[in-house]
Amino acid sequence: MADNAEFVSGTQVKTAFVKIHGAGVRPVLYVEIDGRARAEGCLDLGPTQEVEATSRQIRENAAATVAGFQTFGVGIKELRFRWPDKTVPYTIAPNLPNQNRMTDAIAHWHEKTKIKFVQRTDQDDFVTFRPGSGCSSSVGRQEGQQFVTLGPDCTTGNCIHEIGHTVGLWHEQSRRDRDLFVRVHLENVMPGMEHNFTQHLNDGIDLGTYDYASIMHYPKNAFSKDGSATIEPVFGQTEIGQRLGLSAGDIKAVEELYKAAAT
Ligand SMILES: [Zn+2]
Repeated sequence: MADNAEFVSGTQVKTAFVKIHGAGVRPVLYVEIDGRARAEGCLDLGPTQEVEATSRQIRENAAATVAGFQTFGVGIKELRFRWPDKTVPYTIAPNLPNQNRMTDAIAHWHEKTKIKFVQRTDQDDFVTFRPGSGCSSSVGRQEGQQFVTLGPDCTTGNCIHEIGHTVGLWHEQSRRDRDLFVRVHLENVMPGMEHNFTQHLNDGIDLGTYDYASIMHYPKNAFSKDGSATIEPVFGQTEIGQRLGLSAGDIKAVEELYKAAAT
């Protein structure tokens, strides 16, 4: 079912340290899928080897600091960058099936926001839409080629969500104020998948107010062991986790994010 395509799980949960823009170093739990580190079901942290190498550097740097040696910043790729001129160059893997999912998702972003997708010519930084397991994307612009992965079950709606990550949005329920708005039922979560709810993996900038209608919000049964609710709104009978289109709040969040967009 399409709603579950973002919530793929690996067999072994590992810890890495990553540097998150504005929030310093954080431990992140991830699973390995197709050789890449994936957190919160659909956040692509990069090739596992690179993530582990960066993590080792951070650990060694910390050890050196404790030992009193002078240390220098390690060149860690930050997780969040904005796209210059709100423009995202892209390519499509020729073997990606059902490409209209992607072109429809891009058309939706063009209709609702000022983000522009252009076919890549010679740009260094670009995103490639490709087939794979589940749906995933890294958060914000990385250096060089990055991916939006679309498994067979990923819909246009899922793709709109993944593009949200690509342009720099985190999951709505990873906001700092989320515990005021949602209740998490860890007892209903698949064993071993609790980390997808317990870590608040974002850079600490909450854009606008908490938005139940966000396409970036987990649905009620994300990572559920038996279909029962794992995350529920505190207020009212509001639906969460829609994958139809950007909400008014999402559109505003993107505007805010790119208001002071760096080049
Ligand atoms: Zn996601």
